[in-house]
Amino acid sequence: MEELHSETQQAEPEPAPKIIGLTGGIGSGKTTVARFIEEFGFPVYYSDERAKAIVNENEDLKIKIKELLGEESYDENGLYDRKFVASKVFNNSDILEQLNEIIHPAVRIDFEDWVSRQSKYLVFKETALLFELKLNRQCYKSLLVTAEDNIRAKRVMDRDNKTYREVEAVMEKQMPERDKIKMADCIIYNNTNLQELKEQTEKVIFAIE
Ligand code: ATP
Repeated sequence: MEELHSETQQAEPEPAPKIIGLTGGIGSGKTTVARFIEEFGFPVYYSDERAKAIVNENEDLKIKIKELLGEESYDENGLYDRKFVASKVFNNSDILEQLNEIIHPAVRIDFEDWVSRQSKYLVFKETALLFELKLNRQCYKSLLVTAEDNIRAKRVMDRDNKTYREVEAVMEKQMPERDKIKMADCIIYNNTNLQELKEQTEKVIFAIE
């Protein structure tokens, strides 16, 4: 007698989503592109935002941060004291490195957990440090948003009410755009208006196979 497989057979597991690393220097427009990507129906993981949240959510992480920087790293309400931490790491690259060695793996685990809950074939990980931390190696493709330095500076000055010099100081510390351009799989040039940015975003993300 022919066996009936249909009811007993397990459904094929969904293939893991492909991870696209989304990056760009200060004021390049990566967050704006990330919002467009969400509008087109794809999930985006915001690394910086999540890092800020998990220092308050993850109890193991809290303990490790207090061990490194002291009890004052958290205020009387148990919340991460960003100002205190900044004062500890300011001009102390050794401590900053140790802090990053604690925070980055926690963000990676949080990201993996997030990915496991996604059902789209593509997901995006927004991070300013994609190439610097070599996170592109863990991605299917990298997507860089870039714009000329003076345009980026102007946008950040308007957005954050900063001086040109303040923005330039941040830019000087970041990996140069020309190096990122060499490494990126896909590039969005954000030198014009938001409508064009949205159109380019649509073209690029739907062309990813
Ligand atoms: P950061 O790394 O500093 O957080 P970012 O790369 O995430 O920056 P956005 O915040 O997306 O950059 O963009 C910087 C500013 O420039 C925002 O105020 C945004 O609205 C504006 N902006 C981005 N692209 C354009 C554009 N094509 N035309 C006009 N304004 C833009």
